[in-house]
Amino acid sequence: MHTHIIPENLPMWADKFGYEGFIHLEHHMPGRARMMKGAQFFREIKSNCWDTTERITEYAQFHTQVQVVCTIPVLFSYWAKPDDGSDIARFLNDHIAQLVSEYPRQYIGLGTLPMQSTELSIRELERCREIGLVGVQIGSNINDRNLDDPAFFPIFEACQDLGLALFVHPWNMMGQQHMQKYWLPWLVGMPAETSRAVCSMIFGGVLERLPQLRVCFAHAGGSFLPTIGRIEHGFNCRPDLVAVDNPVNPREYLGRFWVDCITHDPLMLRYVLQTAGEDKVCLGSDYPFPLGDLEIGAFIEEMDLPENTLTRIFSTNTLDWLQLDRHKFEIG
Ligand SMILES: [Zn+2]
Repeated sequence: MHTHIIPENLPMWADKFGYEGFIHLEHHMPGRARMMKGAQFFREIKSNCWDTTERITEYAQFHTQVQVVCTIPVLFSYWAKPDDGSDIARFLNDHIAQLVSEYPRQYIGLGTLPMQSTELSIRELERCREIGLVGVQIGSNINDRNLDDPAFFPIFEACQDLGLALFVHPWNMMGQQHMQKYWLPWLVGMPAETSRAVCSMIFGGVLERLPQLRVCFAHAGGSFLPTIGRIEHGFNCRPDLVAVDNPVNPREYLGRFWVDCITHDPLMLRYVLQTAGEDKVCLGSDYPFPLGDLEIGAFIEEMDLPENTLTRIFSTNTLDWLQLDRHKFEIG
């Protein structure tokens, strides 16, 4: 339920909109491309980032049929002018919708939103549903504003009302300018970012006020679940700081949201299953990026988990999160 995809060709948005900072692709050799931010190199990607049939073949090697796809967070473009951000979201969402309609048994699509505008995000959410996407992916913060910000609440409310699922992915990592070495933004910043998102949605009362909102947090919820004891203790000992917008103990929300299983650690995954709930942990890969679980759940198969737990992780929990019927994906 957590894989990233990009169209093979992106428009030159900087030329179109008249200012810099947008991602474009340089196809410098067969099967490879450079993601460029203006003249600045961001990341080298391979054709499995965009080649729809290559992706299906690679997944089949690990006995996995269906991929929930969403964009790569660097394409969120929340910093852009609202109308331009909206234009980018439409382009990316139409690409994913086209893919889903071509391969309805292999791909499930999540959209992206121009979160810099509440109104444009709600409009795009409505459009996402019309074009066959079943949810949206958003960042763990929006231009350094946390997810409890009142500007985002109507978007979450629209998600709930439209029956769309919400996937929260870390990006724009806090403190990254102070820890460029050792890949620390990815190793330290990302888990913290995800916990920042979970805590903001809990303490800000978003989950409390929107009980039907189906939220899934990336990378097993980042550092939230491993530090729930500390977070709960903070809530109890300093309610004047923590419980200012929502009087409910954060532990009460365990079992209310979904997480993926991307832990690379059987012991941690057992803990995540116990804390998040066996019916809330979904198979995610972060494919095709190197920090992902590119053997797509192989370590889970070696954990000696009961068969029904495996079935939940490998399919049922994701189907529940997205409210999809298993029969939709039957082949033949
Ligand atoms: Zn990811």
